[in-house]
Amino acid sequence: MSVLDYKKANQYLSEYKHQDGLAIEALMDEQLSGGLTYNDFLILPGFIDFDAGKTSLDSKITRNITLKTPFLSSPMDTVTETEMAISMALLGGIGIIHHNCDAKAQADMVRKVKTFENGFIVDPVVLSPTNTVAEVKAIKEQHGFCGIPITENGHLNGKLVGIVTARDIQFHKDDKSLLSQVMSTDLVVAKKGVTLLKANDILRSSKKGKLPIVDEEGRLVSLLSRSDLLKNLNFPLASKSADSKQLLVGAAIGTRPDDKERLALLVDAGLDVVVLDSSQGNSIYQIDMIRHIKERYTQLQVIAGNVVTREQAANLIEAGADGIRIGMGSGSICITQEVMACGRPQATAVYRVSEFCRRFGVPTIADGGIGNVGHIVKALALGASAVMMGGLLAGTTETPGEYFYHEGQRLKRYRGMGSIDAMNNQSGGKDGNAATKRYFSEGDAVKVAQGVVGNVLDKGSVRKYTSYLITGVQHSLQDIGCQSVAQFHEDVYAGRVRFEKRTAAAQMEGGVHGLHSFEKKLFTSA
Ligand code: IMP
Repeated sequence: MSVLDYKKANQYLSEYKHQDGLAIEALMDEQLSGGLTYNDFLILPGFIDFDAGKTSLDSKITRNITLKTPFLSSPMDTVTETEMAISMALLGGIGIIHHNCDAKAQADMVRKVKTFENGFIVDPVVLSPTNTVAEVKAIKEQHGFCGIPITENGHLNGKLVGIVTARDIQFHKDDKSLLSQVMSTDLVVAKKGVTLLKANDILRSSKKGKLPIVDEEGRLVSLLSRSDLLKNLNFPLASKSADSKQLLVGAAIGTRPDDKERLALLVDAGLDVVVLDSSQGNSIYQIDMIRHIKERYTQLQVIAGNVVTREQAANLIEAGADGIRIGMGSGSICITQEVMACGRPQATAVYRVSEFCRRFGVPTIADGGIGNVGHIVKALALGASAVMMGGLLAGTTETPGEYFYHEGQRLKRYRGMGSIDAMNNQSGGKDGNAATKRYFSEGDAVKVAQGVVGNVLDKGSVRKYTSYLITGVQHSLQDIGCQSVAQFHEDVYAGRVRFEKRTAAAQMEGGVHGLHSFEKKLFTSA
C-alpha cells in the first residue's frame, strides 16, 4: 500500500466510506441489540475549540420553560421539599415538590419557594415598639434572620418607626426590654415603586443589611435584604420568572378528582409547572387531568408521564402535555420491571420517546437511573432536554430527613414512592396517600411494592454537588465538541456525533481496574 500525503488526511477522511462509530439510529437498532441502558454505549470524542466554561446548558423542560441547568429533582418525599426546590432553582434547575403530604402542606412549600429571594420581600416579619427583645431572639432562632422592621401597629402597611438588627440586640442582656428602647430610628428607606436595580444601589451604598420600602405616608410596603442581594449575585444561573423575579418551582399531583382541589391550592401558591405523577402515564385519568388543566389554568405548564413508548406519549401530547417524563423501572430504588414485568431499558426509552416528541416541539425529561455525570450527558445525547434525579441528589443536606450513623458512615434514608414504607405514610390526610395513587393501588387490600427503602451516603450540600454536575457536563460536552445542548441535539440527529456499543469487557475496561484498593473522590470545590 502506498503512503498517502499526510497533508491530505482530512480530505482522505471525507472521501472514506465509513465514518468512525455509529449514528444514533444505528446504535439504537433494537432488532440488532435489544433495549439499551446508559452503560451499554459511549459517545466518541469530537473536536475542541472552546472553553468548557463557555458551554451553554440552556434547555427546555416544557414548551414554555427554559432552564439554564437542565436538572429536575424528583418529586419524592426523601428528595424534594422547600430547601431542595430553592437550591435547585438557584442553580438554574427546578425542584418538583412531592405530594406525599396533605395539599395545604404542599402548597405552603410552593409558596416558600416563590417568596424566597424574590427581590422584594412582600410579607416580611414585622414587630411593634411594644414587642420585646426576647421575641426578636425567638424569630432569629426560628427563621435565622434578624433585621426586623418596626411599625406603629406591628403590621405591614403600618407606619415605619424603626428597625431592629442583630447588632441592636447582640449584647443586650435584658430580654424583657421593649423594642422601642433598642431599635434604630436612623433609617435609610426607599420609596414604593423604586426599581429593584435602584433599590439595590441604595442598599449597597447605605451599607445596611435591610432596606425598608415605604409609601408616600411612610407606611411599610416591603423589604429588601442584603443577603438576598448577595444570593442574587452568587447565583447567575437562577431559574426565575421574567416578571416577578421569583424562583421557579414545580409540584407533583396525582390524577384523581381530589387532585384538582390540590392543584387549585398549588396554583394559588404560585406554581409554575405541574408534574402528573404516575408510574404508567398512559391512562384516561391523566388525559382528563391534562384537559382540565389546559381549560382551567391556561398559563400553567404540564409535564405528563411517565412513559417509555411513542404510543404512550402520543396520547399525552394529543391531550396537551407541555413536557413528557420518560422512565419506567429504571429508578435506583425501583423494582417495577421485576414485579410488573413492564418497563423498558432507559436509553432506548429516552431515545424512542424523545425522537417522537421533538416532532411536536414537546421537550422530554429522562427520569430514573441517572447515576453519574456521564449518564446525564448520555440522556441528553439520546434526545432528552433535561434529566430528573432522585438517587443522585439523595443524601444531600437539602433533602428531607435526618442523618444517622451506621458502621461509621453518615447516611440518610432514600425510599421509593412505591415502597411499602411510602405507601403506608398517612400524612396525606384527607387527600389520601400520593404513593398509592402513583401506582393506582389506593383501593387494594394488598399493596404490591414497586420500590424499596434504602440508605445513601452523606453527599454534603446539593449546591456544591449540583455545581459539580454542571461543570462535569460542560467538560463532557467539550470532549464531544458541542458548545451547547441545542447543538448537541442537532449534531446527534444529523449523525455528526458518533456512538459505540460497549461489550461487557469494554465496560470493565472503562471502570477503575487492576488496583489493590483506591479512593474515589469525585470533586473538590473552592
Ligand atoms: P433515581 O434517580 O434513579 O433514584 O430514580 C428516581 C425516579 O424513580 C423518580 O423520579 C421516579 O420516577 C421513580 N420512582 C420513585 N419511586 C419509585 C418506586 O418506588 N418504584 C419505581 N420507581 C420509582
